[in-house]
Amino acid sequence: MIEQPVMVKICDILEESPSVKTFFFKLNPSYEPGQFVMVWIPLLDEKPFTLSYIQEGLIGISVLRRGAFTNALHSKKAGDMIGIRGPYGRGFNLHTHSDICAVGGGIGMASLATLVDRLNLVSEKRQGTTTIIQGARTAAEILYQKRFGNMKLCTDDGTAGFKGTTVDLLRDLLTKQHFQKVYACGPERMLYKVVRLCKEHGVECEASLERYIKCGFGVCGQCDCSGQRVCIDGPVFNTEELSRMDDFGRITITKTGERVIHS
Ligand SMILES: Cc1cc2nc3c(=O)[nH]c(=O)nc-3n(C[C@H](O)[C@H](O)[C@H](O)COP(=O)(O)OP(=O)(O)OC[C@H]3O[C@@H](n4cnc5c(N)ncnc54)[C@H](O)[C@@H]3O)c2cc1C
Repeated sequence: MIEQPVMVKICDILEESPSVKTFFFKLNPSYEPGQFVMVWIPLLDEKPFTLSYIQEGLIGISVLRRGAFTNALHSKKAGDMIGIRGPYGRGFNLHTHSDICAVGGGIGMASLATLVDRLNLVSEKRQGTTTIIQGARTAAEILYQKRFGNMKLCTDDGTAGFKGTTVDLLRDLLTKQHFQKVYACGPERMLYKVVRLCKEHGVECEASLERYIKCGFGVCGQCDCSGQRVCIDGPVFNTEELSRMDDFGRITITKTGERVIHS
């Protein structure tokens, strides 16, 4: 674990889609799928990013261009330096013995990618199958197509796969197939529906939440979700834990601390 930011060189950049780039760094601490690092751009800000690639001596983060910070990251070139500390948080609990389904919405697929890699790595010892559902706005925004050949895709505009949401696709799958576990990452409203669906079908679920994280190690309380600090108690929570979190899917806290209720 790196407790203070270390300046590391971006050694490679991969364009995953028109709005997502992956940045690679030569770092070798031990990381678990679902954990995140805090990325620091001096004089700008520090933000959390999940690890989307974990390889021998190399890690990658996939970044969706959204606001000031991610725009600044997207303008970086190979050879530029950025600060990294971590890894932080509780990652996914690997369930390696049965059929599992990974459901990724948008950039949420980044968090599931290393989980799927890890499951594929132990696939000879594993009896079950891994099904991946990926949802994107449009075909061009689908991530990791070459990396994971056999994904079940859905898009908002119908340009690839099923026209609809990951929740629609999962609902249909659950009527035909039993999964021992569903792993999910994406917008919180999607996660809320996935967890509810899994409960209806008696399937265990783990979901990785995205809240506004400031410190990353549980001191500031900014990422609170009904008494759980997403940065150290999560970001991955199981169905039982999520069921006790009344704010899950309903209330978020903005960067200035305001509680916003979603209808
Ligand atoms: C544990 C964790 C892991 C994360 N991993 C990744 C990752 O792997 N890749 C990645 O790209 N991002 C990831 N994020 C989000 C990332 O940390 C930034 O918050 C996000 O990229 C926006 O940063 P920004 O400063 O560019 O945009 P901001 O200026 O903060 O926001 C720009 C616009 O985007 C909107 N926006 C910001 N965040 C969200 C959101 N979560 N959902 C919907 N709209 C939003 C804002 O409302 C605003 O309109 C993660 C967050 C957490 C908590």
